[in-house]
Amino acid sequence: MMRIAILCSGGDAPGMNACLRAVVRTASTMGVEVVGVRHGYQGLLDGDFYESGDGTGVMSARSVSHIIQHGGTILRTGRCDEFRTASGVRKAADTLVANNIDGLVVIGGDGSLRGAIELGKVWSGRIVGCPGTIDNDLAGTDYTIGFLTAVATAVEAIDKLRDTAESHERLFLVEVMGRGSGYLALFTALASGAEFACIPETPTHSAQMVSDISVLKKRGKASIIVVVAEGDDDGGIEVLRGELEAEGCPYPLRSVKLGHVQRGGSPTPADRILASEAGDLAARALIDGKSGVMAGRLAGQMQLTPFAEAIAGTKTVPLEQIQLLKRMSV
Ligand code: ATP
Repeated sequence: MMRIAILCSGGDAPGMNACLRAVVRTASTMGVEVVGVRHGYQGLLDGDFYESGDGTGVMSARSVSHIIQHGGTILRTGRCDEFRTASGVRKAADTLVANNIDGLVVIGGDGSLRGAIELGKVWSGRIVGCPGTIDNDLAGTDYTIGFLTAVATAVEAIDKLRDTAESHERLFLVEVMGRGSGYLALFTALASGAEFACIPETPTHSAQMVSDISVLKKRGKASIIVVVAEGDDDGGIEVLRGELEAEGCPYPLRSVKLGHVQRGGSPTPADRILASEAGDLAARALIDGKSGVMAGRLAGQMQLTPFAEAIAGTKTVPLEQIQLLKRMSV
């Protein structure tokens, strides 16, 4: 009987559970055993397997019942520095061989796929990835699993901040996650009706911003929301706040980091469906003999993209949406 393993790696993303469920159920339907690995690559180094009750680590179709609606991951996730070393990768491969694993599904972001590439160099088994990250920084899929839920969470928070910003006639700087990508910030800004998005893909000029903000003030805007990507290269939200104050920003300023709330919560239906499709495709591809590819959905079509292409950094925020935000902020 074929045996595959599955793990979640990197930051948790809403929909990881839905993806895990799909892999387990599609594989079991095809007569393939799935062994759950806990805490990402660290679990491979430690031989830390899903607690199945019988010591096998095997996940049955029932073991993933009623998890589609939950954020986080029942397998736990994690970051593992030892796996970044050649000896760590070798140790992980040894665990897979010792447990007669033929294939591995990795649910995670670009770092996790980089790790999968390294593992593939020393292990003869097959590896397929699923894009589980709120950052939306992987090519080969329009959206990564968890991204749209994170946008929804950030928008809900900003809707609340807008009430207080409007009542006190303030400007709020709101920092969102996204690592080196401005996707989460830009989508959050568009969907929340924010006036500005400061993202790594475009330069942030505080003097120009204050001049634009002053125009909006004269036009009668009672409040301003500026969404700032954590990866914006201008020193972070507090530095930007200081610069805007120094340039004479006409509103009193407040700054808020949304932080880890963006990573939790129940996945949206769109994320549950994407996660189910990606998990299903990953399992079928792996069983079918494919390796070194990530399952994703591009322009409505599920497809497999080589790891190297998925992590190449070619995914860029749409310029037309940056322009749209400018046209909406008048
Ligand atoms: P997210 O960005 O959503 O948090 P991610 O998968 O990009 O997800 P990382 O922390 O970058 O998160 O990577 C997860 C893990 O993958 C790392 O802790 C490490 O174990 C492994 N990894 C990352 N890069 C490499 C690499 N170059 N070689 C080997 N392993 C790697």
